[in-house]
Amino acid sequence: MRQKDGPGNLESQRRPRVVVVGAGFGGVNAAQNLSNLDADILMVDRRNYHLFQPLLYQVATAGVAPSDIAYPVRAIFRRQKNFDFLLAQVNGVDLEQRKLLTSRGAVDYDYLILSIGGETNFFGLDSVQENGFDLKDIDDAENIRNHVLLMFEKARHEEDEEICRALRTFVIVGGGPTGVETAGSISELIRLVLVKDFPDLDVGEVRVILLEMTEELLPGFPPDLSEKAVNTLRRKRVEVRLKETVTGYDGESISLKSGDSILANTLIWAAGVRAEKLVDSMEVQKGKQERVVVEETLQVPGHPEVYVIGDAAFMEHDGQPLPMVAPVAIQQAKTAAKNIRNTLEGRPLEKFVYKDPGSLATIGRSAAVARIGRFKFHGFIAWIVWLAVHLFWLIGFRNRLFVLIDWAWDYILYERAVRLITSHPKSEQHDLNLVEREDKR
Ligand SMILES: Cc1cc2nc3c(=O)[nH]c(=O)nc-3n(C[C@H](O)[C@H](O)[C@H](O)COP(=O)(O)OP(=O)(O)OC[C@H]3O[C@@H](n4cnc5c(N)ncnc54)[C@H](O)[C@@H]3O)c2cc1C
Repeated sequence: MRQKDGPGNLESQRRPRVVVVGAGFGGVNAAQNLSNLDADILMVDRRNYHLFQPLLYQVATAGVAPSDIAYPVRAIFRRQKNFDFLLAQVNGVDLEQRKLLTSRGAVDYDYLILSIGGETNFFGLDSVQENGFDLKDIDDAENIRNHVLLMFEKARHEEDEEICRALRTFVIVGGGPTGVETAGSISELIRLVLVKDFPDLDVGEVRVILLEMTEELLPGFPPDLSEKAVNTLRRKRVEVRLKETVTGYDGESISLKSGDSILANTLIWAAGVRAEKLVDSMEVQKGKQERVVVEETLQVPGHPEVYVIGDAAFMEHDGQPLPMVAPVAIQQAKTAAKNIRNTLEGRPLEKFVYKDPGSLATIGRSAAVARIGRFKFHGFIAWIVWLAVHLFWLIGFRNRLFVLIDWAWDYILYERAVRLITSHPKSEQHDLNLVEREDKR
């Protein structure tokens, strides 16, 4: 795609071109930090919006609308003069020729920042991938919301007790923040809200089960906070089962390594993440979770013009891989942008040093756990901190306002604003024998 004024044309440009792949936390912050650089910044993403993934579980559990946690890229950068955007899927990177291979043709770069994030890791469990849900994008969250609500509609008119039990059993796999937050939120959706929509519903017959293969929830949190999370979830009627490993799922029954099985029509997989699969096509060194090993300056060894940041980058901190969380991506974005600037202005490069701001996880209404520096706290105060941090992080005044209104509405009225089945999940089409099983999701 090397046409005169196309995105791939370098000949007509005098200024260096910095291409940023990914409009997530890393990409947006990197491009913003390059705003007054004498260079052209081209952002490439297959979506035209920045997605605030930490609140995806609230879309999945009918708390907020999808549009409240997404923001158009072009609106974010409206005032940035050196910025342009290309909506395209990147299928490969030619490191030698300094070219991206995209669905809209080749795109040349002088400097490249890859902030492509991660994707769900099913660890080769094909049956789980085929029949379960994961939570990575807006579509995933809407699929879960549609499916959960549909299970209640179906259970209401189901006479077979065993079928009914499977319809009303919701299993979340993975005891990290996403699994904990989703389990707590689904339980509250059922006990506080759906119980009013379905007056005949006996909440005692609904099961929300959180399965975790290790012996504690929330790895990376201090052990006492992990314990608090277990107790709080149990108080919210989530069955927490530790040291349970899922080995398969056929859409109706979950097999466990212990030999046990659970009848359930819903399995949400929050147990693994790895670097986005674009890295598979790149001949570079990979670390754990297929993340690209980067130097302390965030450059790819042997390719000083290429930076990898965020979830896709592998780097250690205190002997451990940096976590795949937003603060890492945001801080690395600043360093990568600064190093490109330093290169162009002939200054030495900086090493990336992670400043851990702490960890937060909410477990539903008025309950959260927090570690900030040396301080650990839980309960209502931690929950308020969680709300404030997430509101602050959201991009756009409108999104902040709408999320705040939804939260206040839910808190005061014990409601969930978005209890809509907007499309029929394919799982239902399967049950109705309309499609083949492989089309389920
Ligand atoms: C459900 C969920 C909950 C989370 N909760 C938290 C939390 O509470 N706190 C926290 O700190 N972190 C949380 N995270 C992790 C956090 O969202 C990530 O660490 C962060 O988004 C990483 O930023 P990034 O820029 O590396 O990638 P991302 O933000 O994932 O952005 C990657 C971007 O690249 C684009 N892209 C990827 N591949 C291609 C391609 N081949 N072609 C074109 N475009 C491409 C994607 O469309 C996307 O816009 C959560 C993640 C998930 C999924």
